[in-house]
Amino acid sequence: MAESSLDVSRRLFERAERVIPGGVNSPVRAFGSVGGTPYFVASARGARLRDVDGNEYVDYVQSWGASILGHAHPAVVEAVTKAASRGTTFGAPTEAEVRLAEVVTAAVPGCEQVRLVSSGTEATMTAVRLARGVTGRNKVVKFAGCYHGHSDGLLAAGGSGVATLGLPGSDGVPPSAVADTLVVPYGVVPELGDDVACVIVEPVAANMGLVPPRPGFLEGLRAACDEAGALLIFDEVITGFRLARDGAGPLFSVRPDLFTFGKVIGGGLPLAALGGRTELMGELAPAGRVYQAGTLSGNPLATAAGLAVLELMDEAAYEELAGKVARLADGLRAAISASGLPVQVPVVRSLLAIFFADTPVTDYDDAARAASNGLHARFFHAMLTRGIALAPSAYEVAFCSMAHGDAELERTVEAAGEAAAEVAAARSEL
Ligand SMILES: *Cc1c(COP(=O)(O)O)cnc(C)c1O
Repeated sequence: MAESSLDVSRRLFERAERVIPGGVNSPVRAFGSVGGTPYFVASARGARLRDVDGNEYVDYVQSWGASILGHAHPAVVEAVTKAASRGTTFGAPTEAEVRLAEVVTAAVPGCEQVRLVSSGTEATMTAVRLARGVTGRNKVVKFAGCYHGHSDGLLAAGGSGVATLGLPGSDGVPPSAVADTLVVPYGVVPELGDDVACVIVEPVAANMGLVPPRPGFLEGLRAACDEAGALLIFDEVITGFRLARDGAGPLFSVRPDLFTFGKVIGGGLPLAALGGRTELMGELAPAGRVYQAGTLSGNPLATAAGLAVLELMDEAAYEELAGKVARLADGLRAAISASGLPVQVPVVRSLLAIFFADTPVTDYDDAARAASNGLHARFFHAMLTRGIALAPSAYEVAFCSMAHGDAELERTVEAAGEAAAEVAAARSEL
């Protein structure tokens, strides 16, 4: 195989490093944990992405799951273009906001009202504020390895980019900001005191690789919250409208009090939401006394993109996507284990992750152990040179889109076999 050139990307990264901290606008993009420098994207269509050097990749980042239809889907491009021609933002309500809220509330049981915001970080931040406002309590329980965005109080043991950088939280977060955040292990139902406002959890943890909830875990959280009078928040910024149209709750027969959505529901534009029962959501300003606002909230381009995506993602589409991911997982498991490397490929419907570990990963400690053996970084680069773009971090899932066809999936499995053999050979020489 011809060695792919990354010259133009490298020069762009050098320029970027001079004017953007670390050269990127979100840390994991900088390739810090895998080494090397990032490819700069020129364009993308469907499952495929082309970089500025002309290299083509089958893309499993898909904007961290935001592009569930694949890149530049014609329906999304048309919806956004049309919306843009009518004006990009008004600071006054539009019909599309109402329609998107109607679609989300019709799809997700227990989610009667939504507030649209621009990022998952805002959604979780506001959900926690609402829970505190409603309960009159301060403590927030979160789980190690779950990521809920980069707000001060939720960054502790945050998985994802925080884990990639090996930081427990962040400099600049004062102890007072996390004094009311309790971090406990994923998968274990904690004891809740009567000072706990809410428990926030990724119902399927997808920011420490992929860790499905243990049987009984989510049910246990529901019961513990009910007993303590605390609210249960499902952070579905990844799982919402990805695992299924009605979210992760119905898969496990557990209904939270509040939901947060992001990624998929914005169709690749900046949009996220929090939702819940009317009685709770009605406490948000201007109806209630919990303040939240946003200049670009419910942005016309973002709502148009979100509506276009949710219209196409019906039950059949979710079945199809889960089928693709199941086939991919089987292929990856076989191809990688044939090389002798230890591998786990957990799957929850349309989410998949690759851990280089002998035994299933059940919590953050397991995930950190699997991430520390150095195999992920070598496998990542061996895949990238073969035209397969995985996430540049051992703590992320692989995002398949509706545009990933048999050709892409087969090519991915073939590349995985070769890449794993190469990594295994290099390892045995050490
Ligand atoms: C990505 C993510 C967030 C943060 O969303 P941003 O839009 O990046 O602010 C929050 N929670 C979960 C579960 C996420 O995966």
